[in-house]
Amino acid sequence: MFASRHVVRRVALRQTRRWAHTQPKLQSVTADDVAHFSKILPATSILSTLPPLSTAASELSPFNNDWMNKYHGNSTTVLRPRTTQEVSEIVKHCNERGIGIVPQGGNTGLVGGSVPIQDELVLSLGNMNKVRSFDPVSGILVADAGCILESLSEYLAPHRHIVPLDLGAKGSCQIGGNVSTNAGGLRLLRYGSLHGSVLGLEVVLPDGTILDQLTTLRKDNTGYDLKQLFIGAEGTLGIVTGVSILAAPAPQSTNNVVLALPKFDNVLPLFVEAKKQLSEILSAFEFFDREVYELAVKHGQGRALNEEDIEGAECFVLVETSGGKREHDEEKLNGLLESLMESETPLINTGVLSQSPSQFASLWAIREGLTEAVSKEGKAYKYDISVPLAKFKEVVDATRERLRSKGLLHADAVKHVVGYGHVGDGNLHLNVVAANYTPEIEAALEPFVYELVASYRGSISAEHGIGAMKTHALHYSKGDVSIEWMRRIKTLFDPRGIMNPGKVLE
Ligand SMILES: Cc1cc2nc3c(=O)[nH]c(=O)nc-3n(C[C@H](O)[C@H](O)[C@H](O)COP(=O)(O)OP(=O)(O)OC[C@H]3O[C@@H](n4cnc5c(N)ncnc54)[C@H](O)[C@@H]3O)c2cc1C
Repeated sequence: MFASRHVVRRVALRQTRRWAHTQPKLQSVTADDVAHFSKILPATSILSTLPPLSTAASELSPFNNDWMNKYHGNSTTVLRPRTTQEVSEIVKHCNERGIGIVPQGGNTGLVGGSVPIQDELVLSLGNMNKVRSFDPVSGILVADAGCILESLSEYLAPHRHIVPLDLGAKGSCQIGGNVSTNAGGLRLLRYGSLHGSVLGLEVVLPDGTILDQLTTLRKDNTGYDLKQLFIGAEGTLGIVTGVSILAAPAPQSTNNVVLALPKFDNVLPLFVEAKKQLSEILSAFEFFDREVYELAVKHGQGRALNEEDIEGAECFVLVETSGGKREHDEEKLNGLLESLMESETPLINTGVLSQSPSQFASLWAIREGLTEAVSKEGKAYKYDISVPLAKFKEVVDATRERLRSKGLLHADAVKHVVGYGHVGDGNLHLNVVAANYTPEIEAALEPFVYELVASYRGSISAEHGIGAMKTHALHYSKGDVSIEWMRRIKTLFDPRGIMNPGKVLE
């Protein structure tokens, strides 16, 4: 057994090296290419610093720089097609010429996957933003990939349905980007992952072929489920142009409460108690530590909680319920709160229960605003990891200690080490907030964090993906055989290596 694993590992390593050597060289976009694109797209859909368009570089800046302003590309050309056919013709040309393509949605990704590494062409999906169909009986929504997540929620609201996905970036991120990153977010506890709720996809493959798997069937066992490959592929296998997704019936009643806990050790028993008492109406269980809460308040995310409510709190949990009947749901939630307060060894200090839709939104605004608050405070090193729930605090504390031992925990280097995340999904967002991105801080954090995660058999990416940030660290979560098969799949779909080069796989 050992011998054969050993052989597989050696072969995989050899092939890895060979693949790296044989990666095709990519071409830069030229003025001739721009002239060709002008035959496919109207002038208003092309930005290019190349002649004859000579667009100002500043106009391309939002496409070349990521949300965190951490990753920077040098693309000369951004194309904004309106139809799948246009995407297909662009991709076909790029494949023939060997031009790298970066598919870009809302550019809210947090791992540097959505911007070029060098001067690849950016293919922005924002102009493909129409709902194609919605069936209120089955709840199946079919939409262009460039539809903004929040606009889909607004579209579904009068039909009493919701998108089974919600995240802080909803005002900018697109459904195609969500699918391509297999985004998790705030509703995963209730509605599961996109691998379950996405029913079909339309994808332009790297040679320009349109793969039409835009089925609206709940059940379809006809061989390999190809669409699953594109969910979470981060644009490395093709361009998602259409999405069919199962929307969920809108809950008739929603409540939320922020609970202040004296210590982190109480989070897990609280989760167990909340699951037991709220059962089918529990829809979110989100954790954030005191330090990141203070940052949210400082940077105006949600309304600050009363001082007396949070005195002595080490961390907080936001519990949301979604159900079918207000009285029933309130009775259950109040029952949970009473039993928590009356317990001989209370798990919580106190709780702030929303009493109105605006308070409901305000409590959520604190949790949803944490990512933004962190980025307003400084330069964030973001580690989005899956570890056993009991290890959340250990990971944050160990990282803080590591930085302290390297003499980096002070206002001019690392200002904060904070943790928040989706406890219900085992997903911790470990954020290190620094004055600047520096090689010293990065060297202190990596591979330290990845080794820590691997020691718990966790995942180095719970939901943000690998992007450009973690290609070198993929092996902490995936074995050699898995990585080798990922490479083979990539080569099969994209032999010229044009699709989002340098992302996911090195
Ligand atoms: C404030 C904030 C909160 C966030 N909260 C969460 C959260 O709770 N959960 C979570 O999972 N993420 C979260 N994110 C990360 C990010 O919003 C998600 O990864 C989101 O799904 C990205 O969508 P996008 O349209 O912005 O994609 P982009 O950032 O544009 O692209 C992301 C990746 O997908 C590829 N891509 C985009 N569109 C397509 C397409 N049509 N076809 C093929 N490939 C494509 C890109 O090449 C890139 O690799 C958050 C980000 C911010 C800024």
